[in-house]
Order: sequence, then C-alpha cells, then structure tokens
Amino acid sequence: MDSVSLILKALEFAAVRHRTQFRKGKDKSPYINHPIQVANLLANEAGEKDPVLLSAAMLHDVIEDTVETKKEKKELIDQIRKLFGEEVLSVTLEVTDDNSLGKKNRKQMQIEHAPKLSVKAKKLKIADKIMNVRDIIVNPPEKWSLLRIRKYLDWSEKVVAGLRGVNPKLEDIFDESLRAGRAGYSGK
Ligand code: ZN
Repeated sequence: MDSVSLILKALEFAAVRHRTQFRKGKDKSPYINHPIQVANLLANEAGEKDPVLLSAAMLHDVIEDTVETKKEKKELIDQIRKLFGEEVLSVTLEVTDDNSLGKKNRKQMQIEHAPKLSVKAKKLKIADKIMNVRDIIVNPPEKWSLLRIRKYLDWSEKVVAGLRGVNPKLEDIFDESLRAGRAGYSGK
C-alpha cells in the first residue's frame, strides 16, 4: 500500500474507534483531533515523513482508550496487524500504557520505559507530549488545579528526558512548549 493510502486508512480507522470520545480540555473537542494533531506535528513541524510513524501516530491511543476487556484488546491488536502490518502495530503497542497498572504506576513506567523505546516510538511519544502540553496551555482540563498542571509538566519533562537523541527539532519544540506552559502557570 502507498504511504498516503496507509495514513488515511489509519486516520479513518482511528476516527471510527474514537467516534464517541472527547478531549478533557474545556472546549471538549472530538478526541480524533488529538491523533491528527500529533501526526501533523510530526510531518509538518518536525519533518518526519515515514508512513509507518505517521500511521502509528494516528492509531497511538486506540489500544489504550477504546477497549475495555482483554478479549477486545486482543481482537483490536489482531485487526491492526492485519490492516496496517506488524511494524505499525509494534510502534502503536510501544506507546500504549498497560491499563492493568494503577495510574501512578503507569506514569512511573512511562519514565522508566522511555529510554528503551524504538526510535519511531520515541519520536511519536515526544510529539504526543508536545500536543498534551500545548493543549494544557490553550485549553486546560476544567477540573485541573494549578498544582496538578505543574505536576503534569514536570512529569512530561521527565518522560521526554528519556526520549532525546532522535530528532533535535522535535526536542526543541517540546522545550519551547514546556517553557511556555511553565510561564503560563507560574502562579506569579
Ligand atoms: Zn496521545
């Protein structure tokens, strides 16, 4: 399959999977906006044109956020493998949190796992963190306190510390987003 077809197929697949979900931010935008923004950031701001990476970017939250049971998870994994191939699946799985762990554990695991990820998964994860930080700046979750926002920014910095060395541009964009986020929520 050619690159454009693969990426559009991944976009369509993710749109159906996330069709009833919304982002946490106060504008409650459709969830699919987020994977589109992550893929767009990789392609148009960070110069990443690899169709496997961009397809995995479109799919990066479907396993984590659109299944409830182990059986559903297994079926979805088989489906992604069949439709998009082993490599797209493996990058997608690399950036999927283990939902059987508690939230605190999952956050710690992201920090610990970051240096072990493949180059593609590292790029995807930095882009994901950039979009989440940008979202917090322009459209913060309604119920988040200043402290929670600051803790989130500190945590994403720790995760990204383990992802560096794969795309300097992406890292610069992250640093700038983090700086802007901290400036906006300094509480001064
Ligand atoms: Zn994401």
